[in-house]
Amino acid sequence: MTFDFKDFMNFINFQLFKQSNYEKSNSTTKIKIPISDEAKKLTSLLLKSQTETDRQSLGDELLDELADLAQIDIVNLKISETKQYHKKRNGKVAMKRYGYYKPGDKYIYISNRTAVRGQILAPKTFLDTLLHEWTHHYDYQKLGLNSIHSAGFYARLKDIKEKLGYFAY
Ligand SMILES: [Zn+2]
Repeated sequence: MTFDFKDFMNFINFQLFKQSNYEKSNSTTKIKIPISDEAKKLTSLLLKSQTETDRQSLGDELLDELADLAQIDIVNLKISETKQYHKKRNGKVAMKRYGYYKPGDKYIYISNRTAVRGQILAPKTFLDTLLHEWTHHYDYQKLGLNSIHSAGFYARLKDIKEKLGYFAY
């Protein structure tokens, strides 16, 4: 294998990209969008919702509203009634996946049932997952980031939750 100047420059560019992506992700701690009363109302309704049908319609409405407020593309919600995907190690749950979103996807997927017992997720857990995946969407569309779980990412998630009144319940 040869390692020429072009490979070297590609390597440097990739390292610089990774570093600037990380720095931007980590230093952006606020989600600077106006929050409407409608968005707050939908949040409070979601925090009282139990059924998959209610969560689907309220979740869709909240995602539409947030897309409008942030002026980014709409992302849809797909709630699955199956249990969370999980892996076990020595008989214990070692990893659970609540939901996912891939850059450029038109969908956020959320499993509405707990991994082992298959119970409906607590409202706060459901909404936390929804907003977590939405923050990835926001990072990708609004901030132009390869969205990673930096401390800044979690600060943005906390910021949007505070603004929506998530912690008031
Ligand atoms: Zn994530």
